[in-house]
Amino acid sequence: MGAMSEILHIVGGGMAGSEAAWQAASAGVRVIIHEMRPHVGTFAHKTGDLAEMVCSNSFRSDDDEQNAVGLLHWEMRAAGGLLMEMADRHKLPAGGALAVDREAFAAGVTERLRAHPLVEISGEEITELPREGHWIVATGPLTSGALAEAIRAETGTESLAFFDAIAPIVYADTIDMSVAWEQSRYDKGETEAEQKAYINCPMTRDEYEAFIDALLAADKAEFHEGETAGYFDGCLPIEVMAERGRETLRHGPMKPRGLTNAHKPDEKAHAVVQLRRDNALGTLYNIVGFQTKMKYGAQTEVFRMIPGLEQASFARLGGIHRNTFLNSPTLLDGEMRLKSRPNIRFAGQVTGVEGYVESAAMGLLAARLAVAEMRGEALPAVPSTTAMGALVTHITGGADAKTFQPMNVNFGLFPPVDGLKGGRRGRKDRYKAYTDRAKADWQAWLGAAARDAA
Ligand SMILES: Cc1cc2nc3c(=O)[nH]c(=O)nc-3n(C[C@H](O)[C@H](O)[C@H](O)COP(=O)(O)OP(=O)(O)OC[C@H]3O[C@@H](n4cnc5c(N)ncnc54)[C@H](O)[C@@H]3O)c2cc1C
Repeated sequence: MGAMSEILHIVGGGMAGSEAAWQAASAGVRVIIHEMRPHVGTFAHKTGDLAEMVCSNSFRSDDDEQNAVGLLHWEMRAAGGLLMEMADRHKLPAGGALAVDREAFAAGVTERLRAHPLVEISGEEITELPREGHWIVATGPLTSGALAEAIRAETGTESLAFFDAIAPIVYADTIDMSVAWEQSRYDKGETEAEQKAYINCPMTRDEYEAFIDALLAADKAEFHEGETAGYFDGCLPIEVMAERGRETLRHGPMKPRGLTNAHKPDEKAHAVVQLRRDNALGTLYNIVGFQTKMKYGAQTEVFRMIPGLEQASFARLGGIHRNTFLNSPTLLDGEMRLKSRPNIRFAGQVTGVEGYVESAAMGLLAARLAVAEMRGEALPAVPSTTAMGALVTHITGGADAKTFQPMNVNFGLFPPVDGLKGGRRGRKDRYKAYTDRAKADWQAWLGAAARDAA
């Protein structure tokens, strides 16, 4: 098919923007990447290359049968993704993980895009949301201040966050419900579902004291320079609360008031840890108010001290980072368009996904949706049984908008496969069933999309 005269503008040539540009150009669409580096920098990027990895050099697990991020690799490879091709080409030995030589990787992506006859790279900062033309905004967690202001003016103050304060998220079926129970504080709510919206884990005085000791002793990550400004309002890390006084948490997120232990109604808990439903499927629960800067290893150890969470598996661990992201569940439609300005799509970390791979994946999808729209084709909806579909469904509607925080891909986002055993014991078979189903559905979607384009 010949090149289209219409141009797709992509703001930001990071993980999402680079993959988006590649997908669109490969489909015969002219692309301009507007990338502000190296003229305007960020505190984390060091080069002027496209697709620069700002911190670790890992694309995480490459296991496409038992791991959701490995499955996302598989889906991107099947869709001819440039970032996966370059990651495979520049891979380093790292066990089951896909680690890459970051310089060769970024140079490879940059070279390939520069060499593409349909791609132009323009080195300016975009400071407004354009009213005309087809745009994908993929400016990432460190979106420049001027553009962030423009997005805020369009979407409202509440809809754009500058920090994520992520509480750990637990797979619901790994919570021990013979210890924990469902109840909202003071049984608040009109319906039974509302009155049982939280899962509660009780602590005795000794358990609480041991937990505080562990929090105080745990290894913590440092903030990057320039990262902390303005974050301390309303989202203190739990370990900082514990440092302020041993009772602070018991009067804050761990207060026991208004809750009665369903298993031991006569025993008053000294403290209670509450978990709140995190997705519509009810497969994920976040630990309320437990944002933290503890290192990942320390988090698993400390959180498994909570009665009922001894066997917990975590869909993601907590963190606090500088991160600009939209409240996508309210602002974006199912095709990643800004509802108030449908000529603009958002992609990458700014949509509330987290991680290099997830960001690249959302770039891939946004470009395919944009290209179809520019051609007047109707693509079938991306199946939510695929890793790609599970992620986009989560950020554009499956997640609770009120507590929306950036999300990694994980199996808790997938609709369950009927007839399989829950809990830890059935995990291997369940994950295999998820990945088999996802691969078949993704291939079918790619096939249908290609037929529509023919
Ligand atoms: C400090 C830090 C450490 C991180 N560590 C990891 C990690 O170890 N592993 C991991 O998986 N993820 C990590 N992340 C998350 C990581 O940023 C994302 O996973 C990924 O880079 C996001 O991809 P993206 O394309 O959305 O954004 P980016 O890759 O950041 O790309 C956005 C691009 O937009 C450009 N840009 C911004 N504003 C404008 C503008 N107004 N006009 C033009 N261009 C603009 C930027 O220069 C940048 O090149 C980290 C993030 C930060 C901030």
